[in-house]
Amino acid sequence: MDRTGPWLRAAEGAMLLGPDGVPAPTVFAEMSALAAATGAINLGQGFPDEDGPRAVLDAAVDAIRRGMNQYPPGRGTPDLRQAVAEHQERWYGLEVDPDRQVLVTAGATEALAATLLAFVEPGDEVVTFEPFYDAYGALIRLAGGTHVTVPLTAPDFLPDETALRAAFSDRTRAVLVNTPHNPTGRVLPREVLQTVVDLATRHDAVVITDEVYEHLTFRVPHLPIATLPGAAERTVSISSAGKTFNTTGWKIGWLTAPADLVEAIVSVKQYLTFVNGAPFQPAVATGLRLPDAVFAGIAAELAAKHQLLAGGLRAAGFEVLEPDGGYFVLADAAPLGFTDARELCLRLPELAGVVGVPVSAFVRPDHAAGYRSLVRFAFCKRRSVLDEAVARLGALAAAR
Ligand code: PMP
Ligand code: GLN
Repeated sequence: MDRTGPWLRAAEGAMLLGPDGVPAPTVFAEMSALAAATGAINLGQGFPDEDGPRAVLDAAVDAIRRGMNQYPPGRGTPDLRQAVAEHQERWYGLEVDPDRQVLVTAGATEALAATLLAFVEPGDEVVTFEPFYDAYGALIRLAGGTHVTVPLTAPDFLPDETALRAAFSDRTRAVLVNTPHNPTGRVLPREVLQTVVDLATRHDAVVITDEVYEHLTFRVPHLPIATLPGAAERTVSISSAGKTFNTTGWKIGWLTAPADLVEAIVSVKQYLTFVNGAPFQPAVATGLRLPDAVFAGIAAELAAKHQLLAGGLRAAGFEVLEPDGGYFVLADAAPLGFTDARELCLRLPELAGVVGVPVSAFVRPDHAAGYRSLVRFAFCKRRSVLDEAVARLGALAAAR
């Protein structure tokens, strides 16, 4: 049977289509499989290895026992939409109407998919920074769009303003920004975000912002684009419960946007998943309403884990590029004599019993210069696991 189709564009957009036309699994699946096969410590795919707040877990169990096991309402349960609106007001002073401006989705991924499929026509351009999360490239191409990227380069991973301006044109339909950024951990500063908003306004583009790591910042507070002057009227803000509450497997995300944009996105979302996660929705509402101190505690714990891993990587001989937030730290393996991070990641289980992800997986092959020796390590793991990983990575210098 002829298997050609749009999926080829998705695989190509995520840089997963080999020269033979055969798609590869995502780098996260590939490296998790490598960890499973070798017994190495998995600091590749970004998922925590312990549970988050007990109140959130208990609320899900309780909802199942209370019979919340059928299709929830299309836009999400009224209570979760209300909790999302309260959250936006409490943390950012943003007012959103829970009935018209909030949509609950199957993770941030579905929010991204539904938004891009709602607005991007074949031939439209979508601007993102690069490195970019693999789903961005796949979804932009699935929608038929052209992906235009602006490099974030080491050591500060901030865009050059001229390059950012040059990326926009009259074909720009949307700009998709991720802050705090995966994989660099950069919290994008106000000036960069304001330039993005100004350019989007000039070119009448939708601003899509992926803020799944919004509560996980260490040094600089997160700044949501929607709070900037001129932004709210054209911004779709996306987040997810997975990272904040250690519930990546629940796949509960949400977006907030002007009512007319939400309507357009709903009409795509209802044919993607229709609805999802009935008993997890009240649990996430519980999580979003937890006191400020709980959120601060989650960020502080992650910051300590970051210190632990970053210190260990430095001691092992890597050059560490400090993140402002998120789950990941980038380490340059060049000082250790390893110039190809992908090759190193494939050998790391054998060399050190650890798995990481090469940053090259987040950039187009022809843009790989400057990223080749960078490895992304996840620190969203138990301290004992990080201690062991650090001890093992210490063997690397000797393995050269
Ligand atoms: N955006 C970014 C930047 C991510 O790192 C991730 C995943 N971990 C997602 C979106 C996907 O989030 P979800 O699991 O809620 O779909
Ligand atoms: N977002 C996670 C990461 O960056 C992985 C999610 C996935 O496997 N698609 O590691």
